[in-house]
This record gives sequence, structure tokens and C-alpha cells, in this order.
Amino acid sequence: MTQTPSTDSKPVSALQCPACRVLDAADGSQDGRLFTPPTSHVKDARHLVRALTRAQDRAADGITAFAGSMNFVYIHSVWFAIWVLANVGFVGGAVFDKFPFGLLTMIVSLEAIFLATFVMVSQNRQALRADVRSQLDFENNLRGEIWAIHIGAVLRIDPEHVEDVVQQALAASSQSTAATS
Ligand SMILES: [Zn+2]
Repeated sequence: MTQTPSTDSKPVSALQCPACRVLDAADGSQDGRLFTPPTSHVKDARHLVRALTRAQDRAADGITAFAGSMNFVYIHSVWFAIWVLANVGFVGGAVFDKFPFGLLTMIVSLEAIFLATFVMVSQNRQALRADVRSQLDFENNLRGEIWAIHIGAVLRIDPEHVEDVVQQALAASSQSTAATS
């Protein structure tokens, strides 16, 4: 089979190696490119990490963590109790927000709007973290696969047999997850 060197990927010389020819054929076409470019790229990891370390976004994480704590509930319970009791006249002092506590309602509404936004900022940051992790996972898996195929080539393990077993195992595992869900 003639190998047509492609313009957009470099290591055609690597295909002198039999193990790399196995890798080339693994995506179904022996085209001189070891890896078929994925259709959706994970965004540049350095850009993601930079975004994760921005101080304002870290503050959003901190606020969201506090809003998800029991201390948040306790503080608000005490605050609402004091506010309501003071404004129905149970506690001495001026009544500054008569029933139905319009000022308290406005403050809490504004707080809710900002909290909702903080939660969404934090969710975006969680997604970025997951992207960075999955990119690292992908790179490690790829490294492991290339090493395994080269080691297998030295040990004269039949790559087609291994791939058959892999496909059977994947089919069985997807069947069992489909059955349980
Ligand atoms: Zn090789």
C-alpha cells in the first residue's frame, strides 16, 4: 500500500516503524497520519488554566461555596428573625420596615439575583476544570497506547487479535450499561 504524505501532520517518517503502521491503521485508514484529527478540540489548556486562576473568578467560587454552606442558612435565619421581630415591635427601638417588610424583600431579591449569577460563574469554572482534566487524560491514554503498541510489536503480539478482543469487550460493556440503565 502506498502511503500518501499529508500536508497537515508531520511524522510520516515514523511510519517506517511497524508499530506505528499499526497505529496508523487503527483509525480504519492507512493514510500516513497516525491520528485522525478530532472534530471537536478541547480549548487550549493554558488558556483554560489562566482563566481558572483569575482572582475575580476565584472570588465567585468562594461566594458560591459559602452560599452552599449551613453557615449561610444560620446567618440568614438569625437575620430574618431579628428583622421581623424588630419590625413587629417585639424588640425595642424604631420600626423601620413595617409588615410586609418591603425593604427586606428587596434586599433578599437582589441577593438572590447575584447568588444565581455566582452559581453560574462557578459552574462554568467547573466545566473548564473538567476540560483540562479530560485533556490530560487523553494525552496520558494516547501515550499509554503508543507505548503498549510498541512493546507489543517487540513481543510479537498480534495487534489485530488484541483489537478484536477490545471491540468485543467494548460491545459487551456497552450492552451491560444499556441493560442496567
Ligand atoms: Zn513507532
